[in-house]
Amino acid sequence: MSMEPVLLNDFRAQWRAMRDVALEAVDRVGRSGWLVLGSEVVAFEQALATHWELPFAVGCASGLDALEIGLRCAGLRQGDAVLTTPLSAFASTLAVIRAGGIPVFVDVDAAGQIDLDLAQGALEDHPEIRFLVPVHLFGHAIEHARLAALRDGFDVRVVEDCAQAIGARSHGVPVGSASDMAATSFYPTKNLGALGDGGAVVTGDEALAELARSLRDYGQAGKYEHRHLGLNSRLDELHAAILRDALLPRLGEYTRRRAQIAADYRAKIQNEHIEIPVPPPGSESVWHLFPVLVEPAPDPFQEHLRRLGIASGRHYPHLIPDQEAMKSCPGSRTLGSLERARRFARREVSLPIHPYLDDDAVARVIDACNSWCP
Ligand SMILES: *Cc1c(COP(=O)(O)O)cnc(C)c1O
Repeated sequence: MSMEPVLLNDFRAQWRAMRDVALEAVDRVGRSGWLVLGSEVVAFEQALATHWELPFAVGCASGLDALEIGLRCAGLRQGDAVLTTPLSAFASTLAVIRAGGIPVFVDVDAAGQIDLDLAQGALEDHPEIRFLVPVHLFGHAIEHARLAALRDGFDVRVVEDCAQAIGARSHGVPVGSASDMAATSFYPTKNLGALGDGGAVVTGDEALAELARSLRDYGQAGKYEHRHLGLNSRLDELHAAILRDALLPRLGEYTRRRAQIAADYRAKIQNEHIEIPVPPPGSESVWHLFPVLVEPAPDPFQEHLRRLGIASGRHYPHLIPDQEAMKSCPGSRTLGSLERARRFARREVSLPIHPYLDDDAVARVIDACNSWCP
C-alpha cells in the first residue's frame, strides 16, 4: 500500500489537467488589453446561466459578496430579521449582517441542513421574519418544493446559499430555483473553483440581474452615475476566461467522480463508531464534502487518519451564533435549542472527496475508517 498522502484537494493535479487550456485563456485575455468586467465576464456569465438552467448570472468577487448582493437585490433593508442556519461557513451569516439583516437561527435536521419544520414554526410565530437564507450544505439540495411552500405560504424572500452546491438538484429542480436571487462561490476548494476568488448570483429576474450588475460596480448605473451605495465586487477577465474554458466544461465530469466516491464510501464504510448522515429526500447531491459523525470525538479519529497519510477536515467545529464576532450583532438570536447542530459541531469529520482522488486512495480511506477502533 502506497503512503502517498491522500489530500482534501489536489490543485496541482487539477492544474496538470487544465494547464494548456488555461494558458491559452490567459494569453487571450492578455492580448485583449481588457482586464476587468469585459467580454470574458459576459461570456462566462452566459455559460454559467446556461449550465444552471436559470436565465441570468452576474459574476462577483466572492461568494460572500454574491450573497450580500443577492440579499440586497431581494430587498433586504436595515434591521430585517433573516432566518438561517447556525451550521455553515461564517460567510453565510456575515453576508446577512453586511446587508443590514439580523440573523435568527434555528436548528438543523439529521442531514445537517436548516430544519424546515422548525423554519415553518419560526415563520408562524415570528411574522417579523421577512427573509430565509437556506444553505445547501455539503453539496446536498434542500427540498425545493418545501422551500417554495415556505416562500409562498409566509410571503418571505428566499436567498439560497449555493456556495457548496453548484449543480445539485432537488427532485430534478436546480438549487437556487426557490430564490429571487441565489449565490455561489468560486473559491478554489468549491466544486467550480477558480484559480483565486470569485462568486456569482443567479436569478430568473432581469431587473434584479441589472441591479446586481450595478451593486457589484460601486452602484453605478452608467459611468460616474451612482444610483446605489454599491461594492467593489467585480470579477476579473482572467478568472472568467479560465472558469469558462478550463473549469466549467469539466464540472459535470468532476461531479460524477465525486458522486462515485460518495457511493463507494456509503456502501463500504461500516463501523459502528462512524455515522454517515443521509442526504435530504430527493437530493441529487454534488458532494462538495463527505461528512461523517464520529464517536467518541473527531481528534483521535483524525489522528488515526493522519497516521495513515489521510487528510481530513471539520465542517464546522463552532456554530455561527457561538462565534466571538456575533457579539457585535446584538439583535441576533436563536429560536429553540441547537442540539443537532451542536452534535455536528462536536462529532463531524470531513473525509477526502475530490475529482482527482483515485480508486486506491478511496480504498485507503474506506480501510482507514473501517479499522477505526476508539
Ligand atoms: C465558501 C462559502 C461561502 C463564501 O464564499 P467565498 O467565496 O469564500 O466568499 C458562503 N457560504 C458557504 C456555505 C460557503 O461554503
